[in-house]
Amino acid sequence: MLIFNLKQKFCKFCYFDVNILCLKFVNNLCAFVSWWQNFVQVNSYDFTKEKYTQLLKALQDRGFFFMIFEQFIQSPRDRFVILRHDVDKLPENSLLTAQIENDLGIKGTYYFRAVPESYDEKIIRQIAELGHEIGYHYENLTTTKGNLQLAIEDFRSNLEMLRKLYPVKTICMHGSPLSKYDNRKMWEEYDYRDFGLIGEPYFDVNFSEVLYLTDTGRRWDGFDFSVRV
Ligand SMILES: [Zn+2]
Repeated sequence: MLIFNLKQKFCKFCYFDVNILCLKFVNNLCAFVSWWQNFVQVNSYDFTKEKYTQLLKALQDRGFFFMIFEQFIQSPRDRFVILRHDVDKLPENSLLTAQIENDLGIKGTYYFRAVPESYDEKIIRQIAELGHEIGYHYENLTTTKGNLQLAIEDFRSNLEMLRKLYPVKTICMHGSPLSKYDNRKMWEEYDYRDFGLIGEPYFDVNFSEVLYLTDTGRRWDGFDFSVRV
């Protein structure tokens, strides 16, 4: 399984994360890695709409099936890709990738935070209407400064709010590098399944089988940077 964490940069002011998970898709990981490096090495700093389109097309051409995260939880299959978008800010950029994906007949998963810089009802509705999955990018322990009881109430009400726009089934932790709180710790005391949720990538993906690819330095061929949870 591979996870690509790619920051898509559409202009010098805006960029965002795209995470691509490819699960059980190759017998020969090395062959895939060398294909990928070869593919991205031509201008690996090119973070444009065209480059993103090219990348998705290339994965399609290699026979990858794109699925949303809730589908993966319910019925995983071989040789597939999950596009996981953490919408930390600039939701209009996510609308753009949602449209690019839609043009190629691809569905992705978009996790929105419950803060003004991410949560834009109009855009969330537009992305949902294109058939993409919407999930909650939660950060309740950070918001409540570690107060577990307040955090779970905050979680509950934000999830309810988002569910007015989409029947949310999966969530994904927002990890702020500046925060001393690990938002996943909520689930040591509580169970997200009690909220009618079926998946959280940090818990429901087997990370021991993951090669985590990051674009630290904002480049496409960030293979060498890290292998981590
Ligand atoms: Zn985030």
